[in-house]
This record gives sequence, C-alpha cells and structure tokens, in this order.
Amino acid sequence: MDCVFCKIVKGDIPSYKIYENEHVFAFLDINPVNKGHALVTPKEHAKDLFEVSEESYIETQKAVRLLAPEIKDAVGACGVNIMQNNLPCAGQVVEHLHVHIIPRFKNDGHKLWHGSAVSEQELNEIANNITSGLSD
Ligand code: AMP
Ligand code: ZN
Repeated sequence: MDCVFCKIVKGDIPSYKIYENEHVFAFLDINPVNKGHALVTPKEHAKDLFEVSEESYIETQKAVRLLAPEIKDAVGACGVNIMQNNLPCAGQVVEHLHVHIIPRFKNDGHKLWHGSAVSEQELNEIANNITSGLSD
C-alpha cells in the first residue's frame, strides 16, 4: 500500500521513533509546530476516525496518554495540545490516522479556534439531531 505512515511503521522509510508497542508507533513530526511535536499512529492502516477499529483507536489514545507527559517534560513545555484531523476539510493531509502531540510554550503564537455566537434554538436543534442519530 502506498501509505507513508505504513512505510514508517514497517521501517521502509526512516523516522525519529520515540515509542513502539504491538499496536502503535510514535515518531517526531518532521515539520513541527513546536519542538517535541510528535505523532502517534496505529500500526493497522486506517484512514481516519471513521474507519479505525475501536481497539486500534483505544491503543493509540493509551499511547498518547503515556507519551504526552514524557514529551512535555523532555522539551520543558508548559502545556500540550492533542489534535487529530479527519478528512481533508478538517486539515488531514496524511491519510493514515495519527494523533498530534503538540508541546506548548508561553507566547509560542500557536492559534486555536475562534468561537462564534449561536442561538439557543440552534444549539437545541443540533443536540437533538445528534442524540436522535445515536438512538437509531
Ligand atoms: P495532518 O495534517 O493531521 O494529516 O498531519 C500530517 C503531519 O504529518 C504533518 O504535521 C507533517 O509534518 C507530518 N509528516 C508528513 N510526513 C512525515 C514524515 N515522513 N515523518 C514525520 N512526519 C511527517
Ligand atoms: Zn497506512
């Protein structure tokens, strides 16, 4: 399969590996937001959150929980963002699920989202649409 992260997992292309177990592989991002920016990926190929198996996703998040404090301490960060992009319109570029661990530093300039105003009616409609989908 022509997937860059599958090739990294197999060792066919090099990476700055920081962790590996039976289920997951973690390595440094080569174009980091901040120093220590790392990616945790399941060994099983799955494009995104909509395709990944529950087991692979849970194992990936377990590794995120293990690694985030180590990375934070290793680079002297004051906080960490955990991000996971799904599908191109959400910013996903590499189509093999991966979780970003992004160390944060005071005044590092990295921007998060901007909130916007919304009516109570709209919030109610959205919540109802989601909950009725869950009970189908
Ligand atoms: P995303 O936009 O969530 O798909 O993020 C893809 C990330 O993968 C980007 O932050 C890239 O810098 C990173 N990336 C792409 N190729 C490699 C590679 N060969 N080794 C390490 N990181 C990579
Ligand atoms: Zn893959």
